[in-house]
Amino acid sequence: MSTKSGGSFGIHWFRRDLRVFGNAALQENLRRNQGRVLGLFCFDQAFLSRPDFSHNRFAFFLKTLEALRDELRAQGGDLLVINELPLDAFPKLFHWFEKREFGKPELVSFSRDYEPFARGRDEKVAALLERQGVEFTIHRDHLILEPMEVMKSEKPGEYYRIFTPYSRKWFFEFSKPAIQARVAEQRGAQAYLRKLEGGSLKDSFQLTWKDFLKTRDFPYQDAFAAFQKENGKQVTVPIPEAGFKVAVQALSRFKSSIERYGKDRDFPSIRGTSGLSIYFKNGSLTPSQAIAFLGLEEMTGKEKNSRTQFLKEIIWREFYYSILFHHPSVEKKSFLPKYEKLKWENNKAWLERWKNGTTGVPIVDAGMRQLKTTGWMHNRVRMIVASFLTKDLLIDWRSGERHFMKYLLDGDLAPNNGGWQWAASTGCDPQPWFRVFNPWLQGKKFDPDGTYIRKYVPELEGMPLSHLHSETADRTSWSYPKPVVDHATQRKKSISLYRHA
Ligand code: FAD
Repeated sequence: MSTKSGGSFGIHWFRRDLRVFGNAALQENLRRNQGRVLGLFCFDQAFLSRPDFSHNRFAFFLKTLEALRDELRAQGGDLLVINELPLDAFPKLFHWFEKREFGKPELVSFSRDYEPFARGRDEKVAALLERQGVEFTIHRDHLILEPMEVMKSEKPGEYYRIFTPYSRKWFFEFSKPAIQARVAEQRGAQAYLRKLEGGSLKDSFQLTWKDFLKTRDFPYQDAFAAFQKENGKQVTVPIPEAGFKVAVQALSRFKSSIERYGKDRDFPSIRGTSGLSIYFKNGSLTPSQAIAFLGLEEMTGKEKNSRTQFLKEIIWREFYYSILFHHPSVEKKSFLPKYEKLKWENNKAWLERWKNGTTGVPIVDAGMRQLKTTGWMHNRVRMIVASFLTKDLLIDWRSGERHFMKYLLDGDLAPNNGGWQWAASTGCDPQPWFRVFNPWLQGKKFDPDGTYIRKYVPELEGMPLSHLHSETADRTSWSYPKPVVDHATQRKKSISLYRHA
């Protein structure tokens, strides 16, 4: 058996950087090994048994992996999906390669991750590679500026806890030539796709797993199909198309409407936001690529327009990554320690009504049903339902965070945790505790004609707007529950709870 031309080779360990274009770690490996790079994905059993695991999100992840494998194969490469922890898989693979006289890989490459679990795993893998004498390279991928790059200049080693100064520093760092050059390298997504489809990239990779998999003693079989079949049985929402090409199409669609972002982004019945979060989550696309594609490199943060507003949302994402990185205990605890002691009521029946979208508050129920039936929820409605759970129902934010992670296709620890702790006023730079969203007024303001509500709560079809947005209206002619709580009463209780924490 021989590889295409013999000689050194590399392995790229894919995790949440599921694309080829602009994947800096993979590109370094390809360059240094003249295209002789094998793609590897290890399903981590520990990850699959995490409490925040979601079959729906995993199905979307698998679809993304499938698109990546097709993309690699179209370039002469390949992806092996194995059912083994990386710490066990690498030594087994190295041993087999050595036995077969290929020797160990020259280079293992991967992209940096910032979550506590992933950081722990990556440290162990790095130590293992060192022990094995295998060189490795790690690059940034899904953040434009990494947590250690946006720090307070006046206080060395201190990270930002407040968004506005963080974003000011972010724009300052972003304007530097090195960062601008890095973003500029991410231009050309459409040209890459044209070349891919025209076949001119078919020899970019010079090595595949195909021959190895045929040998009798190769330690692994491709586990992709088995995972897909097993997981597929538990999927409860339609899974969208996935992969780099689909992500670029979404980006291209958004480009034609970005000037309306500022005006439309708060209205859930309008497709006013980019819809890119599901692609950012798996790395089918990165925020740098979105910025390069949309031409936002010149933004300084001072402009009052839709483009800067959009960029600021991307910065919120980076801010929450920074918080998780510098203060990893937020994964389990309130950022503000005094709110760890809040005396949540945690009424189980109310929690179930919230989860099922039967609270009797139309905008909340519409959001919760959108989440359950599509795997996505509009940002404005995420804020409303999160506020309702914590401040009206007085239920611990962690119950809501977990439920979101179970259903969101874009479920991502840092922005999800950040969003929940913001809404619950327990996070850094949160919504002030005394400001409690009135869900009735929120519904009236952001879904004035009830289009969004009626789409997800069809039993309210035909209800006049005066009833739809009124807490006290008589709705007995509709088979729809009475509001689970009285907003004014709960608001008072909530304020008192926080005041006395
Ligand atoms: P756009 O409005 O087009 O924004 C562009 C990008 O900016 C998004 O894709 C996202 O990456 C980022 N972004 C936008 N709003 C925020 C925000 N408030 N905080 C952080 N980043 C933001 N986002 C996730 O990606 N995963 C989550 O699990 C998640 N959970 C959330 C939970 C709560 C309670 C709240 C209030 C927000 C949560 N968000 C989460 C943030 C936000 O709701 C989504 O990123 C956004 O709705 C995705 O839609 P979009 O891509 O069309 O956003």
